[in-house]
Amino acid sequence: VLVVGGGPAGLAAVAACADAGLDVGLLTDDPEAPWTQTYGAWHDELAAAGFPGVTVRCWTDTRVRTAVDAERSLGRAYCLIDNDRLRSALWARAGAVTVTAGRAVALEHHRDRVVVTTMDGGRHLARAVVDATGQPPVLGSRRRGALAYQTAYGMVATFDRPPIAAGTACLMDLDAAPFADREPPTFLYAMDLGDGRWFVEETCLARRPALPLHVLEARLRRRLAARGAPPQRELSVERCAFPMDPPLPARGPAIAFGAAAAMVHPATGYHVAIALRRAPDLANGLRRALASPGVSAAAVASAASDAVWPPALRRQHALYRVGLEVLLRLDVPATQRFFDAFFALPPADWHGYLSRTTSPARTQATMLRLLWALPPDVRRAVVHTVVRQPARHWLATALLPQLSGR
Ligand SMILES: Cc1cc2nc3c(=O)[nH]c(=O)nc-3n(C[C@H](O)[C@H](O)[C@H](O)COP(=O)(O)OP(=O)(O)OC[C@H]3O[C@@H](n4cnc5c(N)ncnc54)[C@H](O)[C@@H]3O)c2cc1C
Repeated sequence: VLVVGGGPAGLAAVAACADAGLDVGLLTDDPEAPWTQTYGAWHDELAAAGFPGVTVRCWTDTRVRTAVDAERSLGRAYCLIDNDRLRSALWARAGAVTVTAGRAVALEHHRDRVVVTTMDGGRHLARAVVDATGQPPVLGSRRRGALAYQTAYGMVATFDRPPIAAGTACLMDLDAAPFADREPPTFLYAMDLGDGRWFVEETCLARRPALPLHVLEARLRRRLAARGAPPQRELSVERCAFPMDPPLPARGPAIAFGAAAAMVHPATGYHVAIALRRAPDLANGLRRALASPGVSAAAVASAASDAVWPPALRRQHALYRVGLEVLLRLDVPATQRFFDAFFALPPADWHGYLSRTTSPARTQATMLRLLWALPPDVRRAVVHTVVRQPARHWLATALLPQLSGR
């Protein structure tokens, strides 16, 4: 198996394939390049994926603030991932894999093998190729048309006055009072790093087209100034932009995995813990397919792609796409009340929804429970979106297999 792309999904795939006893190699453009993104995840997700210790810091006091006077503690521990530790843990599981530095540019498909060509003219043969090159995927299908993007502008900085309560992480502060022009909704995502440094980031959860980063930077500075906590020393900057609704991968000679396979949660943007948890499904799908005597490379790719996107996860994905369309259309007051109701749901519901761990039926039940819990005007706005395209298409995709008994 040749995995192309050395991000979190690619390394997770390599480690899981090695664990499953497969002969696996990694091809990535720069194997030594550090992962510079600020990756966060729930502690229980990392533990369930088998990586509980790969954190810089965990906060037991994780909060959301949906308006000035509406702050709640979530009672679920949130972590900042230590990227170097996660990489080391994945390399340790991978063992002695072959790592090649190279930029994949094309893929050739033969009966019993797939050949990846690199920019320098190198040819790399494998029985199966996993495309973990992120978005847009280098070897797989790309989307036409406008995508919804999550964008964020953040920084690590010191402050004379704490920007959020000391010792806490703030998943979402939706207070829009500091902004003259309140629309579209954006929120502060922040963590006390515990050594005099803080991470603060203004985030637009989803917008089609993307909300520009300069708008987010201006909002972040405005928000911090309004609470009397402008940054004292700015130590590093994070600029974040990634698509929330790329297409599910089409069947082809490469098996997409990670962001390349549209595995980023369409309604939250989370993905790292999901990729860690799902990598063994990919590896087991590959192992089973490769064990069949005389199986073609196309059949292996097809079976492994089905293991990444089985019907139940496709239905769940369709429900999340409905959720995304709803979020894209709510204004600031409606977004605040929407998340107020969301985080008041029973913890098992919102935990499962955010972590992608519940069945389609349970996800559907959570969404209906939320709809019921919303204030009437917000509920009307949600229904208005859901009965129209494109949400209606996604709802039908989620429900029709159940209605037809499949
Ligand atoms: C700034 C930022 C912050 C984020 N924060 C979070 C977070 O807190 N929590 C969370 O769960 N998710 C987060 N995400 C979303 C998501 O988890 C990340 O985008 C994640 O990096 C996706 O992992 P991946 O391995 O699929 O793709 P990538 O991380 O994009 O990795 C792709 C890899 O493929 C390599 N590559 C690309 N093209 C080629 C080629 N032609 N040939 C060979 N190699 C190639 C790249 O060099 C890279 O190593 C964040 C995203 C961004 C951009």
